[in-house]
Amino acid sequence: MSSCDQPGLMPVETALERLFAMAEAAPINETERVSLADGEGRILAQSLIATLDLPPWANSAMDGYALRLADWTGEPLVISQRIQAGSAPLPLQPGTCARIFTGAPLPLGADTVEMQENTTLADDGRVAFSEPLKLGQNVRLQGQETRIGDEVLPVGTRMGPIELGLAASLGCADLLVRRRLRVAVLSTGDELVEPGQALGPGQIYNSNRRLLISWLHRLGCEAVDAGILPDDLQQTRAALAALADVDLILSTGGVSVGEADFLGVVLREEGELALWKLAIKPGKPLTCGHFRGVPVIGLPGNPASTLVTFALLARPYLLRRLGVQRVAPLGFKVPAGFVWSKPGARREYLRARLENGQVLPYPNQSSGVLRSAAWAEGFAEVLEGTTLAIGDSLRFIPLSEVLG
Ligand code: AMP
Ligand code: MG
Repeated sequence: MSSCDQPGLMPVETALERLFAMAEAAPINETERVSLADGEGRILAQSLIATLDLPPWANSAMDGYALRLADWTGEPLVISQRIQAGSAPLPLQPGTCARIFTGAPLPLGADTVEMQENTTLADDGRVAFSEPLKLGQNVRLQGQETRIGDEVLPVGTRMGPIELGLAASLGCADLLVRRRLRVAVLSTGDELVEPGQALGPGQIYNSNRRLLISWLHRLGCEAVDAGILPDDLQQTRAALAALADVDLILSTGGVSVGEADFLGVVLREEGELALWKLAIKPGKPLTCGHFRGVPVIGLPGNPASTLVTFALLARPYLLRRLGVQRVAPLGFKVPAGFVWSKPGARREYLRARLENGQVLPYPNQSSGVLRSAAWAEGFAEVLEGTTLAIGDSLRFIPLSEVLG
């Protein structure tokens, strides 16, 4: 244990392992069939197997001339046919070449294509080839990308623009996907008011509800808006009981050890409760448990804490429940454009930007300041127990890695 380890603080990795165990214990196995047009963001429940070769037939990678290399003596060749993309060629007449365009099928008997830039068309209509020719050049062979029967996308793939394009290239019109995950979003706090209403004394607008619902939609989840929950034991009990048909209750606020933190009380009474003190900043307290069998994750209420804990813990949990394996956000090393002199016991996720090849944090890193994240392009990860001088390397996780 280093001098910076704070007894009782749970490392981010341990929290993730436990969340994955929770997720894998309650996988979403129900499936539905959706058209490719509705496939964005959905998770494959059945691997995509190629039912044709790609390309389906040999074709030209260039605009030029197709020939059989063995027929070429070095003399210009007569053009015996013209083959456009989308047409069906005749077999190549021996000793001739075919005018051919990119994507057009290679005629039977041809094995080589020369691009038109390396040819000259003589007055007699014959084509002279100026460069040495190599057998098979500029030919895309049948099945060179994919063969019939190949597993092109495994179960658990998240369908994005690339995967949808690939499925379309194989002629796939619909997909078997996991049903959407239903996630209830509950905002706790007597002080919360929705935008559009006037603020009374001591009140603030509810930012987490919008943040989380919008984010859940991006993740392909169905968000059930459970509104604002006052800090009241009875109402907390009733609110959770009304959410029996969701896959996850995701709440914010009321998860520390304050007197108004009723989520923990109710979980202790009615189900199971784990209160984690995470080695993460912002975001230390996290509630995890079940209410009458429904998984519950309680994120801290400060909006930047909600953001960081959702990005790094709740998001991977949700995706894992849907069977996605690769859920860790990618990051890359960048030089620090700032000094970090006090090693912390918690791993910090500074809301930061890249400027001139260095990473710079937003000046106000308070966990209540969501504006820091709107300014930021990602998280600068400062590990537990470390100091940084200008130019020292640290990991930067782009927000784009976690927002979708
Ligand atoms: P709590 O975890 O309930 O003690 O809340 C911690 C801080 O986050 C307090 O300043 C709350 O007012 C604030 N907070 C809690 N929930 C929200 C929310 N949904 N929107 C904005 N701020 C919140
Ligand atoms: Mg509260």
